Formats: sequence, structure tokens, C-alpha cells
Amino acid sequence: MKKIPYGRQWIDQSDINEVVKVLKSDWLSQGPKIREFEEAIAKYCGAKYAVAVSSGTAGLHLAYCVAGMGKGDEVITTPMSFLATANAAVFTGATPIFADIDYDTVNIDPEEIQKKLTKRSKAIVPVHFAGLPVDLKEIAAIARRRDLIVIEDACHALGAEYRGKKIGSCQYSDITVFSFHPVKHITTGEGGCITTNNRDFYKKMLQMRHHGIGRPQSARRRVGNWFYQMNNIGFNYRITDFQAALGLSQLRKLDFFLKRRREIAEQYGEALQSLGEKVILPKLHYPDRKHAWHLYLFRLNLKKTSIHRRRFYEALQEYGVMSQVHYIPITHHPYYQRHLAKSSLRHPKTERYYQEVVSLPMYPRLTSRDVQLVIAAVKEILDGVFNKSKKRKKPVVF
Ligand SMILES: *Cc1c(COP(=O)(O)O)cnc(C)c1O
Repeated sequence: MKKIPYGRQWIDQSDINEVVKVLKSDWLSQGPKIREFEEAIAKYCGAKYAVAVSSGTAGLHLAYCVAGMGKGDEVITTPMSFLATANAAVFTGATPIFADIDYDTVNIDPEEIQKKLTKRSKAIVPVHFAGLPVDLKEIAAIARRRDLIVIEDACHALGAEYRGKKIGSCQYSDITVFSFHPVKHITTGEGGCITTNNRDFYKKMLQMRHHGIGRPQSARRRVGNWFYQMNNIGFNYRITDFQAALGLSQLRKLDFFLKRRREIAEQYGEALQSLGEKVILPKLHYPDRKHAWHLYLFRLNLKKTSIHRRRFYEALQEYGVMSQVHYIPITHHPYYQRHLAKSSLRHPKTERYYQEVVSLPMYPRLTSRDVQLVIAAVKEILDGVFNKSKKRKKPVVF
């Protein structure tokens, strides 16, 4: 039986050609393609500066470092994200503080952010979940009142738009971070990029990506051209030149990728509407923002259907549809359970959402026929045709 994964990269001959060209050139690591890729990302997003790095996680870590986060600081973010959003704050010594989501959009709720503010708050890190932009203007207003930094985790949202501008333009934030992992909008294998309009942040991130090393012109003239100097501690978060070449080639296809993702979302939305109250479908259109559809979050309305999420997920597998759950709340993981106060781990809307959701397959290579197959499977399962005899399993909460 054909298996349909929930996400998958698109690599074609033009990508392969671009990578091979670099492999045959003089530069594998720090060559000219990196700069070219950074300029292309900055231009696409409408930001002044971009720094390409080895992963989205590395990008978050650098962003948190230049924002000055450290021991004693609190970073307000969402419990409904991939672990890296919070982990990178922990790398700096800061403490992630989790604010509950808005049940409808699954994005961090500005009202919940307000409740979590303390005098130790340093930054707000919203995630444009599944590719739907958060209300940046509202979050920026909270940040401004408290003099907080805003860092957008836009790992789901390359190509999304808010109030007519691309996510990554940093119009309402200090820094934005993207990931180029194979399931994301474009891929470099592993990789990521940071955008900002702040020149000081930009210069610092460039150095920190390469051990904190700088090569001051005046000293090179005085001492010799080999001279380099480490003023602050940094990391090896460099991306390679052939990855940047792949990224550039992928970026040329991004608008087409986004168009395909939007078509698939519409196809799901229209066809699954007939399931009525049994399901909660993501809203397709917003007046002030454009969804980038990294994920299609399909929710079971557990009050209106008797099937549990686990049974539904396993039934989809029996049709060859490999759905996924995004995500186990960050606060469920033993590390955070051990390190954070129990009272700070309660997020009723996140918990409820987590019980209901599966991500249906969503990627540009998915054909219309694949989408039809997924829709047919979902309908058969929820209309009760599927395996009525099988005993339902009790849900297990991890
Ligand atoms: C993918 C992802 C990351 C991490 O990106 P990597 O490139 O895998 O390090 C961070 N945050 C979110 C929301 C992500 O989806």
C-alpha cells in the first residue's frame, strides 16, 4: 500500500545541479553562496539583514544570546511548539515561562502573555504556529510597555504575511528565526536563518556564528593580515556553501510551494466541511494575514464524535496515511516537569487542543489524488464505516 507521510521535501534536478556546482568549486564551507543566500532571504522577507546558520535551533540560540538573555531572565513563549523554542532559552541560562494558547488559532494568546509578565521578563517569543502569523501588533504593544524584546520563531512561517508584509520583515519585532529542516517550506538539509533590522544584532550574530571571532581591519593593518580576535564567546553555527546553494535554488520555488500548500488547504477545507460538528477545521482566510500552511491541523471534536485521537491516528495509518501530532506540549516533557514549578505548567487550552489534533499530510509534492485519498480515509473513519467491530483504545496521556 502506498504510504503518504505528513511532510516531505521537494528536491528536483535544478537543486541537485546547484549543489553539484558548489561541490566542484573551491569552497565547501564559507564561500560566496552563503552571502548570496542571506541577501536573497533578507530581500524576500523585506528585512535589512540575514544571517544563515546551521539550524533553526542555532538561530534561536544566537537570537536569544544577542538579546542579552541569561540567568535570572524570563522568556515568555508558548507550550505548543517544538522543544527548540524553549530549549534555546535554557541554553542561555534563562527560564522559559509558558503562556497558554488561543484555542481557535493555536497561537500564543496575548492575554495569557499579560498574566505571565514579571519584573524578570526579558523577551516574548511567539511562534507562528502551523504557518499562521500571531497578532504581532498586539504582542509588540505589550513588549513596548515593558521594554521587552520580541523574537519571532517563524520556523513554520516562511512566506506567511501579516498586514501586507512578509513574516521576517521584523516590522513588529527585533529578530525572526527560520528553519530549513526537510519538512519546512524550503530545505538545506539542516539549516536556518535569522533576519533583523538591527545592525548591532546583525554584527554580533555574524561573529557568534563563528566562535565569536572578529577580524578588525585596523588591527589587521597593524599586526598582519592573519590577525583575528575573540571578544565574546561564540559557537560553530556555520552553514556550508553547498547548503546555501541548495537554499537559493529552493527559494526560487518558494512561491510555487506556498501556492501548492494553499491549494491543498482549500481542498481539505472544502471537502471536510461535510463532517460538520465532528471536526474542528482550521480557518482558511484571515483579513489581515496570510497563512503559510506548514501544517494542516485537523481536530476531532471529542464531544461530538466517539472516536479517540489515538484510534483515529492508527486508523489513518491503516489507510497508509501517516499523520502526526504537533506537538506534545513542551511542558509534558520530564525535563521541564523537573525544572519548572508545577503551578506554572497548567494550560487548559493547550491540553484540550493536544487531545484533539492530528496533522494531515501537507507538502507541495502531495498530488490532488493523494489529497483525495486522505479525505476519503478521514471520512470513512469518522462516518463510522471503518472497523466498527474493533474495540476502541482508551487514550493514554503522555
Ligand atoms: C523546526 C522547528 C525548530 C527548530 O528548527 P531546526 O532547524 O530543526 O533546529 C524550532 N521551532 C519550531 C517551531 C520548529 O518547527
